[in-house]
Amino acid sequence: MTDLPVVRLQPQRHKRLRMGHPWAFSNEIQMDNAAKALARGSLVRLEASHGEALGVAMFNPHTLIAARIIDRDATATIDAAWIARHIARARDLRELLYPGGNYRLIHAEADGLPGLIVDRYGDTLVVQRNAAGIEKLGDALFEALEKELSPVRIVVRDDSAARQLEGLGASESVRGTPLDAPLRIQESGATFFADPREGQKTGWFFDQRDNRAFLANLCAGKRVLDVYCYAGGFGVLAAKRGATAVKLVDSSQTALDLAKLAADANGVSAQCIFEKADAFEFLESQARAGVVYDVVSADPPAFAKSRKDVPMALKGYRKLARAAAKLVAPGGILFVASCSHNIEPGPFAEEVARGVSEAGRNARILRVAGAAADHPLHPHLPESAYLKALTLALD
Ligand code: SAH
Repeated sequence: MTDLPVVRLQPQRHKRLRMGHPWAFSNEIQMDNAAKALARGSLVRLEASHGEALGVAMFNPHTLIAARIIDRDATATIDAAWIARHIARARDLRELLYPGGNYRLIHAEADGLPGLIVDRYGDTLVVQRNAAGIEKLGDALFEALEKELSPVRIVVRDDSAARQLEGLGASESVRGTPLDAPLRIQESGATFFADPREGQKTGWFFDQRDNRAFLANLCAGKRVLDVYCYAGGFGVLAAKRGATAVKLVDSSQTALDLAKLAADANGVSAQCIFEKADAFEFLESQARAGVVYDVVSADPPAFAKSRKDVPMALKGYRKLARAAAKLVAPGGILFVASCSHNIEPGPFAEEVARGVSEAGRNARILRVAGAAADHPLHPHLPESAYLKALTLALD
């Protein structure tokens, strides 16, 4: 593509990008009238101030992450064939990691497609376009997905908060056969149900796969509590691995209905009890009643939706760890997770440690983990590792 508009960086701002970082921020760009006039998401040739080509980038003059490099070859042609190559590479990697067609297929920058999320539920793909440049690829993106994966449908969930930062509106649509029932997925030898029409994120949290498997393998013969259970990812797998009694708690009836479907499908309904409740109220009432569990999993929604929420969110994680630790039987296990992008792993671990101590418990951390490997990281964006998951053994 030699006819792309040229966007230049301010003097000395190219070094980080030349070293491999994929983004240039708006204050690093020579934002002249020509640059400002470019449509959101335009493909541009990104250059250093002295004219050195840095690559082809997606450009949005109206947002903080103004340029996202998508090919370091400034002569690359970004067409359906280019997109298809990236999708095929991502699919081959996932099939190596988690064969069977249920995984996060595309994890944005790490898969070379900035701002694009695609989750694969067998022959259904659920797409979230979180950058203007991805949206501007238009049908070429869907055609490439269709070519590489032959899906029955592509559900487009363009309703994330991230889109607002890019100046994009919210919408939802389906290409192909409409969906008329929850999707069935397989994970770690169990069956689950997800509903991308109304579920959280794209309908299933693939990121917790390895963490669920690790915890479930400690649950045979145990009493288990899964608070913030959503569609039963932790609790139902624990029952399937032999937990004698599992309590699953969520404030959403839709989530509990999906979890019940999963319990039925795995033949573990008799071991599972479902309760619609606020997590903190539930934990506190159980403590008052003196109820204990051998394993407690607490995987809440993001407490910090933005930077200003961080102090309150940290207190929230401490309070959650304290309330959950109080319900763990002597010698039992506590699992706590945070999916808040703005909370760093260090402060999270510190608050969990404090909460556990405030509950009067001694603990050992058994496992420190993040998202499963189908959520790869761009090596220059380590801060995009949003999931933090701690498993502790309590005395
Ligand atoms: N553990 C799940 C994912 C949890 S997502 C898994 O493995 O897939 C967070 C869940 O918390 C959602 O299902 C949401 O409905 C629930 N939730 C949000 N606020 C809540 C509250 N105050 N009390 C209980 N559940 C809540």
